[in-house]
Formats: sequence, structure tokens, C-alpha cells
Amino acid sequence: MVREHAASLRFAYPRKTEILGLPHALGRVLGRPVLADRDQPPFDRSTRDGYACYAADLRGGEPLTVTGQIRAGDPIEQPRVKLAPGHAVEIMTGAPVPAGADHVVMFEHVERDEETDSIRPIRRNGESHAPASGGNIVPAGAEARKGDIILHAGTRLVPAHIAAAAACGASMVHVYAPPRVSILASGDELVDLDSVPLPHQIRNSNSYSLAAQVTAGGGQPARLPLVRDDPGHLQSAIRMAMDSDLLLISGGVSMGKYDFAAESLLALGAEFFFTGALIQPGKPVIFGRLPHASGMKYFFALPGNPVSTMVTFALFVHPLLCALAGDDNTVPRFALAKLGADVSVQAGLTRFLPAILAGGTEPEATPVEWQGSGDLANTAAANCFLVVPPDRDSLAAGEIATILLK
Ligand code: AMP
Ligand code: MG
Repeated sequence: MVREHAASLRFAYPRKTEILGLPHALGRVLGRPVLADRDQPPFDRSTRDGYACYAADLRGGEPLTVTGQIRAGDPIEQPRVKLAPGHAVEIMTGAPVPAGADHVVMFEHVERDEETDSIRPIRRNGESHAPASGGNIVPAGAEARKGDIILHAGTRLVPAHIAAAAACGASMVHVYAPPRVSILASGDELVDLDSVPLPHQIRNSNSYSLAAQVTAGGGQPARLPLVRDDPGHLQSAIRMAMDSDLLLISGGVSMGKYDFAAESLLALGAEFFFTGALIQPGKPVIFGRLPHASGMKYFFALPGNPVSTMVTFALFVHPLLCALAGDDNTVPRFALAKLGADVSVQAGLTRFLPAILAGGTEPEATPVEWQGSGDLANTAAANCFLVVPPDRDSLAAGEIATILLK
């Protein structure tokens, strides 16, 4: 359901673009493609330190006369003179291959006779090295042609994209403005960080975790003042929060007598796409849309238990946030890992257990000991959630299991 809305938003949602210096664009989503400003590589490039020559000459086994040296950064001689057959030019990685040469033989594969200034392929087990035409050379334009799209609009820039853009000379890039996300936390027991909680009060951590998840997901969060468990107050707070691209409400979505999120949203004309998901934690999550003068506004009402809030964000909010941001890639980030311990749960719902992913090249996920979805202290150590399918009440250590990355 979220995926369908995310897919429809990808092209339909109106977004502003801004121009940023490339070093400041990490994590942002491209609003315009980056094009190759010239062929890549711009010349036939040697990928090895060695000798540029004719592959056929090497196969002949006769010594080749060394006629000079080309370093990376040496200008390409004009007019270009073809390498004479039977000759070789010493060449360094990244240097332009001389005209005619169709092979670069590595230093390690020849022996050089300083007296005659010639090279000869080294024979191994009586066999000579069989050089192929084109070996160790990337022809001009083989990676990209001038004008090719190197990075599409909708690419969220990671370091490799920054490198690709830099190679195109894109010192400034057009990126989408980040979607603005309003965050409303509701609950009579909540106090904010500037007050000392009385014994019966709970610190509002969800506004902060949500704001952090929004920022990490490429959005611009606005933490709004706490809302009491009162339908009138909640409605007016929602109305005030609707000038953003997305509204997140935490708390008040369960079946409790003082849970007013659903009725307040309905009173404001909300359309619900789903109420509840077959997951634990996070079951009571609501996804929908509210009418607003500037168009329909998406919202999520998330359960208030801090871990439920984080799981439902990762599963449902993150994909929609990515779509609003113009990001091509809107699927939640799942991966596979070996299970580091036996796990047993009650079957029936898809479970998300805070877990620690470790183990280098053989990733292993081990659930943390915790007290359930209110337990922030122990969840803080986790860097992923282990996913237990609804039809399983146990998983064994060593099994390959799915994890949801935070
Ligand atoms: P609720 O979803 O309103 O029924 O709240 C479920 C549990 O989450 C209760 O224990 C609340 O105290 C707690 N909770 C709700 N909102 C927050 C919040 N913003 N920060 C931390 N804990 C919360
Ligand atoms: Mg509550």
C-alpha cells in the first residue's frame, strides 16, 4: 500500500529544486541528471604500468625495441605518430596509449635488456604469455560518451555518485528541496527535555527519534509542541501541522480510552489507507491522507511505544519519505544475515526484534535482551531488527534470517 503511493508520488509530486556545491550534496536527491561533459576515458587509457606495443609482436616472441616513455599527465602528441611495429613505449597507469598500440604488457611479464634497450616476453613453463589485442587498455569513450546520462534525476547521492559527478566536472548540482515533515507527539504523561519529569511523567523521546529518522532519510523535520490526550487539542494541532509535506503523529493510536488519533483524523476528513498492520511491535499504525487547501497531505499515526515508533518508521514512513524526496529507491532496506542465537516468539504476527549485526564478511545478527517495545535503553545497542515471519515461533542459531536495517 505504501509502495503504491510511493510509486505514484515519484513523478507526480511537485518539488522545488535548489543548486548546491557538489561537496554539500551528499545524501541529497538529484533533481536533474548529471551528464558526461566529455568521453570517458578521454583517450585510450593504460590500466597498467608496462609497455605499450602490438599484441601480435609479443606473440612472435622477438625482442621489441623500447623507444620512449609516457607518463600520466604527458600531453598527447600532435599530430599523432603511429607506433612502429616491433617497437614498444614504456607507459604508466593512466597514461594515453600511443597511436597504433593495441596492448600494454605489464612490467612483470617482460624482461628488459638495458644494453639493447629492448624487451622480450617472459616464458613460463616454456609457454609464452598470450597477449590479446586491447589488453590493459580502456578505449576512449568505452566508459561513457560525451552527453551520456551518468547520474539520473532521482539518485540519492552517496560517495560513489559524488565521485562520478566530480569526474563530469559537475561542481554544482540540482537537487530537490527536502520534504518537510511535521512531528506531533501526543500523551498526557509526556514532558519535553527542558522539564524535569515528575515520577509519573515520561520524557518525550519519540519526537527526537522521529526527527532523527526524518533527517537521516533526507527530510526536514519540524518538532511541534506536545499534544494532550484531548480530541479538540489534537485536531487543532493537526490542522496547524498540515502545511508540511508529511505529518507524523506518535501515540494515541491504540484501543485505549484516551487514544484519540483516529477519531481526530476522521473528524478532519481523513481517508485511511490502512489501520493496523500484522506486525509486532507496531500493530496499530495508521496510514492515510488528509484534505488540505494546498492538496492532499499524507500522514502516519504511529504507536507511541518508542521501539514501535522506530520500527513503523523504518517499514512504512521511510519509503514514503524517500518518494516525497524524489528518491528512485523507496523500498525498506532488508538484508540477510546468519542468526547468532536461538530465537523464540509467539507466532501469528511478523516480529521485529532489535538485534546487533556484526561479523564482518559473514554478517551475523543477534537479538538484544529487551523488555519489549518500550525498552529504549536496551534497543539503543541494536543496529537492525531481526524479522521473524508470522508462521514461525522459533528460529535456530545459524539459520539465514532477514533483517531490517535502521
Ligand atoms: P500510546 O501509543 O499513546 O498508547 O503509548 C504507548 C506507550 O508509549 C506508553 O507507555 C507511552 O507512555 C509511551 N509513549 C507514547 N508517546 C511517547 C513519546 N513521545 N515518547 C516516549 N514514550 C512515549
Ligand atoms: Mg498515549
